[in-house]
Amino acid sequence: MTVAGRPQSTTTMKAKLPQDYTHVGDLTWQPFPEAFSEGGITWKLLNVSPEVGGWTAMFDCPTGSSFNRHIHMGPGEYFLMSGVMEVQGGEHVGGVTAVAPAYGYEPCNARHDRTYFVEGGQFYMTFLGPLQFINDDGTPIAVISWEEAQGLWAAQNGQSIPG
Ligand code: ZN
Repeated sequence: MTVAGRPQSTTTMKAKLPQDYTHVGDLTWQPFPEAFSEGGITWKLLNVSPEVGGWTAMFDCPTGSSFNRHIHMGPGEYFLMSGVMEVQGGEHVGGVTAVAPAYGYEPCNARHDRTYFVEGGQFYMTFLGPLQFINDDGTPIAVISWEEAQGLWAAQNGQSIPG
């Protein structure tokens, strides 16, 4: 007996990337591009959601690593599981110093000139829109939407995305 409206079996879902359910330990940390970060940050893409233009990832950030200057083109939520992360320079210069365990919300158009790991750690984040990496004068370098994130992750894992 089949249940109406039930999603197709997991075997047919398997070709998709990423999957609806992910055991995080089964994924391999991949380098987050050095065009957008420094200090050896790695990531795991957990999900993309084309219907809302969102994507969800985990990041592993060694002590002293940082993300390059960027703007959140949509809001985002993060959970810092370990470590200490300075957002926009940290609280000593008017930004935020997140000390794990910590939750944070970044509004649409939040600009982060410096996101720096005073103490290495990991965080989980859902981006409801692209991240735009920018030069110091605000001109764009690259826009990372769910599609670019998915393409990068697929390439790093030697997979192709089914059309
Ligand atoms: Zn940011």
